[in-house]
Amino acid sequence: MRPSKVARAAGTGASVPIESCQVCGHSPLDVVLSLGYMPPVNQMVPVGQVPRQLPWFPTTLLHCRKCDLVQLGLAVDPTIIFPPEYPYTSGTTKLLRDNFADLQRESAMMLGLGEKDLIVDIGSNDGTLLSNFKTGGQRVLGIEPTDVGEIANQRGIQTIKRYFGIDVAREVKREFGAASVVTAANCFAHIEDVHAIVDGIVEMLKPDGVFISESHYLIPLLETLQYDTIYHEHLRYYSLTSLKHLLDMHGLEVFHARPIPSHGGSIRVYAARRGTHTVEESVGRMLDNEPRGDAMVGRLDKFKNDVILSKLRLLSMLRDLKEKGARIAGISAPSRASTLVNYVGLDEGLIDYVCEIAGSLKIGKCMPGTQIPVVDESRLYADQPDCAIIFSWHIAGELAPKLKAKGFHGTLITPLPEPRTL
Ligand SMILES: [Zn+2]
Repeated sequence: MRPSKVARAAGTGASVPIESCQVCGHSPLDVVLSLGYMPPVNQMVPVGQVPRQLPWFPTTLLHCRKCDLVQLGLAVDPTIIFPPEYPYTSGTTKLLRDNFADLQRESAMMLGLGEKDLIVDIGSNDGTLLSNFKTGGQRVLGIEPTDVGEIANQRGIQTIKRYFGIDVAREVKREFGAASVVTAANCFAHIEDVHAIVDGIVEMLKPDGVFISESHYLIPLLETLQYDTIYHEHLRYYSLTSLKHLLDMHGLEVFHARPIPSHGGSIRVYAARRGTHTVEESVGRMLDNEPRGDAMVGRLDKFKNDVILSKLRLLSMLRDLKEKGARIAGISAPSRASTLVNYVGLDEGLIDYVCEIAGSLKIGKCMPGTQIPVVDESRLYADQPDCAIIFSWHIAGELAPKLKAKGFHGTLITPLPEPRTL
């Protein structure tokens, strides 16, 4: 059954507690873990500004006993979470660019896509994903409400600058015809009314059209203790079990699924109207490996305990360093760093500064909720602090050799899943 009430914070300028499951409407939801109150991850005050009051929001992870969806306990108005001055562009990370190229190759081959096929991407950002389909010879259309959509239009990826919903879906179908493929990468966890989104997707699809989604995947999140990906942008943390349940409610059948490396562990899922595609073995295999019901409750309980221990271990490591008089810096200020810094309680007394690559809009601002300044990466090489914590630890394998090659002699630390020196 669909939820009778959707927690809507959009347009309120504030937040709304999520009191029943966003997918099945069940209540009450079980509390998995509370990370305390957190500032919005993009709330970055200029360095040197006199401190003044700022909003903080409760950050609680909840679990639905009925459909196993893991979800946030609070919806915050998107205007607070996504301020226009910090546009996120998906084309900037090599890992993400490679992943989207792979998505095009895989789906074009699997579905036999040709030049007549229309590919619609929801939350199309700067058009990075669609550019692969365009190169592949397919017709493409993006839907992106923010100004980033302009970048896509300029590079020749036609993009409608609107919030996606059933009206836009009908309009697209009328003007462009039905879509062979609809994609949604990483926006499927953000949007408040997920059922309305799936309604719109089904509306646009050809009878045998395919919906491909990519989302953060709950299982690696639990396994590698990525509690730092819990923040207010992410309303839902899908397993294949919970995603399948959601799509089933709309007559869509998952016929292929596989893990992908994006964002420290994501899942790519193919779905279509029931009976139109052969269900591959991959689906059953992934479902079998996911905990469900009581097993999920036990798994989440272990996660909570491990998160608490990880915080204490990181603090203990930093205490030892500080007792020896070490100077500590941070490397990179992704959104996830805000959760880690604030949950662990790192501040300007412990971390001298955080480095971002030249050109980053975050330089000259403070890490959310703290007075730790974000500075140009060149400072790291001139200053040579004793150690540096890599906040983008999920890509530490890619970053660490670069930092060494550029001349950093200090110790590198990754904070998760276990704090350790590289
Ligand atoms: Zn539920």
